[in-house]
Amino acid sequence: MNFEYPPEAEAFRAEFRAWLNENLDDDLVGARPMAASESPEALERMRAWNRKLADARYAAIAWPAEYGGRGAGVMEQVVYAEELHRSGAPGTLNVIGISNIAPSIMEHGTEEQKRRFLPAMLRGDDVWCQGFSEPNAGSDLASLQTRAVADGDDYVVNGQKVWNTLGVIADWCELLVRTDPDVPKHKGISCLLVDMRLPGVEVRPLVTITGEAEFSEIFFTDVRVPKSALLGPENDGWRVAMTTLTHERGGVASLHLGVRKKIAGLLDLARSTTRNGRPAADDPVLRQSLARLYLEGEYLKLLSDRAVSGLLHGRPAGPETSLAKLVWSECETHIADVAGQLLGPAANAGSWGRDRVYARALSIAGGTTQVNKNIVAQRVLGLPRG
Ligand SMILES: Cc1cc2nc3c(=O)[nH]c(=O)nc-3n(C[C@H](O)[C@H](O)[C@H](O)COP(=O)(O)OP(=O)(O)OC[C@H]3O[C@@H](n4cnc5c(N)ncnc54)[C@H](O)[C@@H]3O)c2cc1C
Repeated sequence: MNFEYPPEAEAFRAEFRAWLNENLDDDLVGARPMAASESPEALERMRAWNRKLADARYAAIAWPAEYGGRGAGVMEQVVYAEELHRSGAPGTLNVIGISNIAPSIMEHGTEEQKRRFLPAMLRGDDVWCQGFSEPNAGSDLASLQTRAVADGDDYVVNGQKVWNTLGVIADWCELLVRTDPDVPKHKGISCLLVDMRLPGVEVRPLVTITGEAEFSEIFFTDVRVPKSALLGPENDGWRVAMTTLTHERGGVASLHLGVRKKIAGLLDLARSTTRNGRPAADDPVLRQSLARLYLEGEYLKLLSDRAVSGLLHGRPAGPETSLAKLVWSECETHIADVAGQLLGPAANAGSWGRDRVYARALSIAGGTTQVNKNIVAQRVLGLPRG
């Protein structure tokens, strides 16, 4: 099913496409913002690209114009994601900051916090990470134990965070801490905007199976964080966290883009790869797998379109977001499986090889498969709690 986009969205597409043609250097095509943690050169390259995007007001088009965005509507955001995927252009360096943390600062921050943090985040001058998960608080985030104790004009923070994407290069952290241990767990949490260069903050890179230090652990030992770092009221951090997580989940509308691009790539490969003197695409078993995969990609597109339709009608993201996340992460795993079927051992090298091992992380990030299945079971299918 194809629907026609409104003329304003198509006008925006033409404008952004022309800008990308003019400004995107070949060596940036296919670069991943996460690769910025690999070396100082990679960081500077991504930062320079980020500044270019920001100067043209393409770094955060959904942000209001007063903060350097375009106040773009849903369809422009869809077009923006489509054009980034089509061209292979990396998005902004501050992947987490711009889409997840900034909305919390805009909604809960003071004017001073907005002025201090948003412009530098937009340009990539400050890189942000999210300090939510702990060794014993992931799916059950409200169990977090990192403590912040008020002392004069400061909070003294002690504890540990883990799985902090971009933590290795982050300048600032949106940190969830426990400020009151004596109330029900959701009610004693606060959110602090923490300078990662404060004494007592120690970042330890976590190198994953892909060989990249995409994550870190962050240890806090008697870190004195000024009270002015509080985002939203004290002990109201759960509400701030929910703003951040809602925006994290709002990204479902474009999940199908990367998946369908990879599936199209596999279909092309199946046609051009020769097996026993014939195109691999002639193999009936492989054809079945490719057809199933293709349908899965199209199904994900329908789920994404449904999310877009909901947004256009002003409906808040509902439990169908969990379904889209679930299908997306499973589809990425199936792509890796079919690549293995088609390419054999060669599927373990290059970008197919990276995707093959990385796909596992997608079943955990942004809500695990099991937790999402529970949400779908209870809130979509109406099944009783297990
Ligand atoms: C790519 C990636 C990026 C990430 N980036 C960040 C980041 O920037 N900042 C940050 O703070 N965190 C980040 N995380 C961490 C992520 O939020 C957590 O890994 C996630 O919330 C799961 O928590 P956990 O790892 O502690 O697993 P747990 O919650 O301990 O889960 C362990 C297992 O138990 C299952 N389980 C848990 N609860 C239930 C239940 N109620 N019913 C059934 N099964 C259940 C889970 O599905 C899983 O299989 C990232 C993770 C990944 C993979």
